[in-house]
Parts: sequence; structure tokens; C-alpha cells
Amino acid sequence: MTPKLNVVPFVSVDHMMKLVLQVGVERFLTELSAYVEEDFRRWESFDKVARVAAHSDEGVIELMPTSDGAAYAFKYVNGHPKNTRDGRQTVTAFGVLADVANGYPVLLTEMTILTALRTAATSAVAARHLARPDSRTMAIIGNGAQAEFQAIAMKALLGVDRLRLHDIDLAASAKCARNLEGLGFDIRICASTAEAVEGADIVTTVTADKQNATILTDNLVGAGLHINAVGGDCPGKTELHADILRRAAIFVEYPPQTRIEGEIQQLAPDHPVSELWQVIDGRTPGRRDAAQITLFDSVGFATEDFSALRYVSDKLVEAPFFEELDLLADPDEPRDLFGMLLRAAA
Ligand code: NAD
Repeated sequence: MTPKLNVVPFVSVDHMMKLVLQVGVERFLTELSAYVEEDFRRWESFDKVARVAAHSDEGVIELMPTSDGAAYAFKYVNGHPKNTRDGRQTVTAFGVLADVANGYPVLLTEMTILTALRTAATSAVAARHLARPDSRTMAIIGNGAQAEFQAIAMKALLGVDRLRLHDIDLAASAKCARNLEGLGFDIRICASTAEAVEGADIVTTVTADKQNATILTDNLVGAGLHINAVGGDCPGKTELHADILRRAAIFVEYPPQTRIEGEIQQLAPDHPVSELWQVIDGRTPGRRDAAQITLFDSVGFATEDFSALRYVSDKLVEAPFFEELDLLADPDEPRDLFGMLLRAAA
């Protein structure tokens, strides 16, 4: 995509849906996972900082920047667990990709759908390195906006095709089961977390509640389980009982951010954790044996959004689902910004 100087390609929600549907959800997740993994492999070339969070009683608004020296990206994202009560999403987002050489944005896009996709892609990348290779059954605790994406990504990358769904709101599980119908899953809706987790190879917790919740207790975690903890991503917002963390091998994205936001905020600040990029890069072992309990303490990191923006930007070349946004002032003579205003008045 070669944008004109004064316009920025803008991908609306409608265009994002068209793009995802044209590519196909499963293929989109597979290709996006490759971008996420590729960027984890060149982790050291990124500027990294824990995201900047503005907390309130009801939720959080966050800015997530990063750059690889050639491109710069940021995402604006919120997390408001009570939003669904009045018809709003818990998580919404938009983001920008920019050219470091001149500072001009090259893409502005919705990222609510894209965040669900990139979070699922990252979960699946982590699980491919950490879950037992024969994993086929996943329990999903919390069946809201993120759930279906998590399921499809695990199917695309690991071949997970048996789902056990549990949510405190049965309607959410029914919605999730309905949406995944015909996509090759054997699905069971479960009345409790214990029922869902029994016999699962992977447990994904993806609930929304602004408290230190105990979605999963230690007695439910058997040998060899891979836990993908997605919903605990803010100070005071966790999902797992601390005893699980003490038994598991823990893998994180960017430790300075995860220590503040992840499940490991419940542990001592020096509790050992491994970095996912080092596992992907082959510097650190992932799962050691079939009995080990592995935990991906996901909070979502800026490089994953960078990967998602990079992927969408590349995709727009063949599938031009965007409009041109008049976002940047472009006077004929760059220094005559005021003159442009005067000429507009005339
Ligand atoms: P959502 O509000 O659409 O769905 C959350 C679901 O969890 C709801 O259906 C709710 O009924 C259910 N739930 C709440 N408490 C529960 C409990 N105790 N047991 C079982 N189910 C319970 O939210 P969403 O958009 O699907 O997001 C889910 C979580 O994932 C949020 O906490 C969000 O902040 C987090 N998230 C994390 C990342 C990441 O990268 N780690 C990315 C996106 C979202």
C-alpha cells in the first residue's frame, strides 16, 4: 500500500469484518500467528515499555506503544467489565501504524476485532510451544467476546477440536456454542468450571471481572495441563488461585508489564518466570515433560498489536478494504500552514 501524502488508510469496523471474512477467520488467525511469532523472534529489535494505564473504579484505558526502528505502532484500548450491562463491549480498541522515517501514520484501524484476533493468535502461538503436542480438548471459562476467537486459533494451530464451555451466564455459553457450530468442534456446555476442566488438555480462562477472582482452584489442575490465563490483565484483576502459580512453569510476554498486570502480581516480585520470546527463539525450554503444568500468563503486549497492524497493512495491498482519511494537513508549501487556512476561507 503506498498512501498519498495527505491521506491515511482507515480500516473501519465494517471494512475489518469484510477483510477477515474474505481471508477466512481460520486462515487470518494462522497468518497473523506467523507475524506474531516472527516479531517475538526479533524481540530485541523492539523498543519496549509497560503500557501506560489510566485506572478508574470501573475499568482501565491503556496506551500501548512500540517501534522496531522502521515502523512505530500504538494501540488505544479499554477494559470495562461492567460495560456489557448497558450494551457496550468490555474491550474496544483502535490503533495506528506509522513510518519512523517521517513520522507519518500509514494506517489507522479499528482494533476491537483485531485485538480479539491477535490475542487468540498469541494464545495459540504460546500453546503450540507449551501445551502437550497431543492436546485436543480445551475448556474455555468465560464465553464472552474473546471466546470464539480463542477456540478457532487453537484449532488452527494445534488441532484442538473438543471444547468444554463454562460461563456464569449460560446465555454466553449458548451464544459461543451457536457461533462455533459447523466449524468442526465437538462442544459441550458445562454447569461448572470443575466439569469443564475435567479431562481438558488446555484451560483458557477469559473472564471479565475487576477483582482478584478465583476462576480456577489448585485442586482442579491436573498433571500436564496447559493454562492459558487471558482475563487477568490489570492490577487487582486476576483469575487463578496463587497455589496454581506456585506449581506451574510460568511464561510471560514482557515481565515488567506482567509483574504489574498478570497473575504473577500475586507472587513475590522475584518469583522465576520465563519469557515467551526466548522459548520461541529456542533459548529457553518450553514444556519439559508431559506431566509439567505450564501457564501462559497473558496480558497482551504492544508487539502483538504491532504484528497485527503490520499484517493488516500488508493484507490491504491485495484486499483494499479501507477508505482514505483526510487526517494530515498538506499545504502546497509545507511551511505555509496558515496560508492554507486563509485560502480555505477565501
Ligand atoms: P466479555 O465481557 O465479553 O466476556 C467475559 C465473560 O466472562 C462474560 O460472558 C461473563 O459472564 C464471564 N464471566 C465473568 N465472571 C465469570 C466467572 N467467575 N466464571 C465464569 N465466567 C465468568 O469480555 P471479553 O472481551 O471476552 O474479555 C474477557 C477478558 O479478557 C477481559 O477480562 C479482558 O480484559 C481480557 N482480555 C485480555 C487480553 C489479553 O491480551 N490478555 C486481550 C483482550 C481481552
